[in-house]
Formats: sequence, C-alpha cells, structure tokens
Amino acid sequence: MSDLADNLAAVHRRIARAAEAAGRDPASVHLLAVSKTFPAEDVRAAYAVGQRAFGENYVQEALAKIETLADLRPKIEWHFIGPLQSNKTRAIAEQVDWVHSVDRLKIAQRLSEQRPAHLRPLNVCLQVNISGEATKSGVAPADALVLAREIAGLPRLALRGLMSIPEPAEGLDAQRMPHRALRALFDELRADGLPLDTLSIGMSGDLEAAVFEGATIVRIGTAIFGARDYSH
Ligand SMILES: *Cc1c(COP(=O)(O)O)cnc(C)c1O
Repeated sequence: MSDLADNLAAVHRRIARAAEAAGRDPASVHLLAVSKTFPAEDVRAAYAVGQRAFGENYVQEALAKIETLADLRPKIEWHFIGPLQSNKTRAIAEQVDWVHSVDRLKIAQRLSEQRPAHLRPLNVCLQVNISGEATKSGVAPADALVLAREIAGLPRLALRGLMSIPEPAEGLDAQRMPHRALRALFDELRADGLPLDTLSIGMSGDLEAAVFEGATIVRIGTAIFGARDYSH
C-alpha cells in the first residue's frame, strides 16, 4: 500500500478504536480529509483508495482543486473549513457541499442568497469560539443560540451543527474539556428545537478526545497527508 493508503487505514483504525471505547458505532463518525496545501494529485490518490470527503481552508486553493478534480463529481464531497470573507462567498456557495466556518449572520445570508437554485441547500455548521481566544474566529458560546436560530431560518442553507477549533492541549482529559463544552451547547440548541445532527470536532492530535465527546465529523489533515509546508 502507498503511504497515503496506510495513513488513511491507520486513521480509520483510530476512529474505530475510539468509537468502540466510547460505546459508539464507528460508522457514526465521518472522516473529512483536510487537503489544504496538498496538490490535487494527493486528493485524487486518496479518492482512489475510497476517501470521499475533503476539506479546504483557502478559497483560491479550494476552487483550483475543485476545478482540477471536476471529473470526480458528484461522488467527491467538498467542505470549506477556513475563514470566509463576504466578498468570497459566491464561489463557495456555488462550488462546495458544506461550509463549517460560518460565524456571522452576514456571511450566512450571502451564502443563502448565492446558493444556486438547482443545487441542494448548502450544509453549514456554526463555528464556535469554544476556548474564548481573542484571535480565533467563531461566535461566542453565549451568542450561538440567537445566531443559530437566525441561520436556521435562511432558505438555501441547512444548518447541520457546530464546529470548533479548540486551543491545542496535551493529554486526553485536557483535550476533552472544550469538546465537552461544545457538546453541551449542541445539546442546548437541540433542546431549543434546532434539528442539528453534526458535531465537527477533532483534528490529527485530538481525534480520540473528539470521538469520546460525540464528534460526527473529524477533520484530519496531517495524519493523512503528512506535515504541511507553507513555504510555497
Ligand atoms: C488544518 C485544519 C485541520 C486539520 O488539522 P490537522 O492537525 O492537520 O489534522 C482541521 N480543521 C481545520 C479548521 C483546519 O484548518
């Protein structure tokens, strides 16, 4: 097997082991392969060994890869997970299946208005700043319910759940804390009547912690594609 196939198999084993330890069905945890900074050929290679969902952070890079790999549609699924400026929403609304990083109403309204009528509503997650870091994107937990209700009312979006990128932490217990807080917020929004089914949490370093706390999508880059090189 190639390194990529080995890496994907190892990530699937990590998910399965964590799910079993948590008493969860491994099939309830979906793997999003985060391909940012890696070339379209690497995405194609991962697709060839069965991976279907890919995450991208940067608009131009995402659009270029989506175009290069247009022959893999509609089976390939594209998720936008990076910061989104309002002047870049149209191409994203037209080209991707999911946006995980919606954190303000203006962006959500533009995505809804710009989602083409012939496509299904755009799946979105609300990004929550669960660690309360000043520099990170994401809505404050205290503001999430009001924003989620507003987004849920937009006609061309399907609000699916919550996403967060906690501060890196060492050790399972420390890693679980922010995920547990996001899960509690998720339960609160569901209790309010929002039909959410997605918790987008967990990266290469904290996949197990996220699965223990209820992740339904884990976003894995390094453990699949290797270390990123931002120099070019
Ligand atoms: C880059 C990135 C990931 C993947 O991180 P790894 O540590 O490489 O697995 C996941 N989510 C977001 C939002 C990212 O930007």
